Amino acid sequence: MSEFTLIERLQTRTALERADVRVGIGDDAAVLAVPGDHELVVSTDTLVEGVHFPRGTAAFDIGWKALAVNLSDLAAMAATPAWVSLALTLPACDDAWLDGFAAGFAALAREHGVALIGGDTTRGPLTVTLTVHGFVPQGMAVRRSGARPGDVALTTGTLGDAAGGLALLGTKPSRAGERHPAWCEELLARLNRPTPRIAQGLALRGLASAAIDVSDGLVADLGHVCMASGVGAEVDLARLPASSALLGLFDEAERTALQLGGGDDYELCFTAAPEVAEGLIAELARLGGGVTRIGRIVEGRGVRVLDVDGREVVPPRRGYEHFA
Ligand code: ADP
Ligand code: MG
Repeated sequence: MSEFTLIERLQTRTALERADVRVGIGDDAAVLAVPGDHELVVSTDTLVEGVHFPRGTAAFDIGWKALAVNLSDLAAMAATPAWVSLALTLPACDDAWLDGFAAGFAALAREHGVALIGGDTTRGPLTVTLTVHGFVPQGMAVRRSGARPGDVALTTGTLGDAAGGLALLGTKPSRAGERHPAWCEELLARLNRPTPRIAQGLALRGLASAAIDVSDGLVADLGHVCMASGVGAEVDLARLPASSALLGLFDEAERTALQLGGGDDYELCFTAAPEVAEGLIAELARLGGGVTRIGRIVEGRGVRVLDVDGREVVPPRRGYEHFA
């Protein structure tokens, strides 16, 4: 397959009409119409084989996950996704791989009405870089910097599942795994096909004081909110939402490590003033996927994790850092 057949194939398999794409794939650049009263929200994320997904990950899952992690950044800003460009580096031009990749990508793109508007194709070690574009009404983006002492800290969904899935991959099938294949599958699905919390992100507009998506691990990501906001946070360990799969497959110490330090969950961790928290919780509960109060914002700096007696727990491991 030539580079041009490859691009054409990607284009047909991911085709999605949007009136605001005036010029899409095929010219030297895309031409896009931004709604007049909105701001453009842009984010780029790269997935490298062996770093962001294990060698041997299904092409469908790579296509899905590459888009999911990018959409998750838009969700964390409370933006509505619209367009995406794709820089694809492949070791070889493999039809079956490309079709799988396009199918995974297109499945999630259709769900959110996101159009592929262009990109670049090169040869090299398997690397997928996406730039997503979305909109927010003027001034309505939710930033990391708005958390204030007294705010409630919350998260959507459950934490630690993706890291649990990764831990399962690293071990021989455990006895628990042999007895509970459905739990293992559930955690692996959380690792390979994360759900970007777009609807939940939109619900944060005008209500949440700060938000971030959990990609590096709860303590690390909430730490980013604290740093940007000039505040500290307390997290109640016992309140962290855990799936039954995580509870079933890992003991308490492992679970604590996965929930506090494990990345790749792509849940939204956010803060809100107490007087709006109740309404926000009700709205997010209505959307499904769950929402839990996990702690509070305090004066000071950094994230402190507390046990049921209010004693500080030292998180067993830090979030992922590429150059650490
Ligand atoms: P140029 O050499 O002018 O950069 P290319 O040959 O790289 O053009 O790309 C031709 C068209 O195909 C452009 O519209 C570009 O955006 C699109 N394109 C190239 N690679 C991809 C890709 N991986 N995904 C989507 N569109 C792509
Ligand atoms: Mg090019």
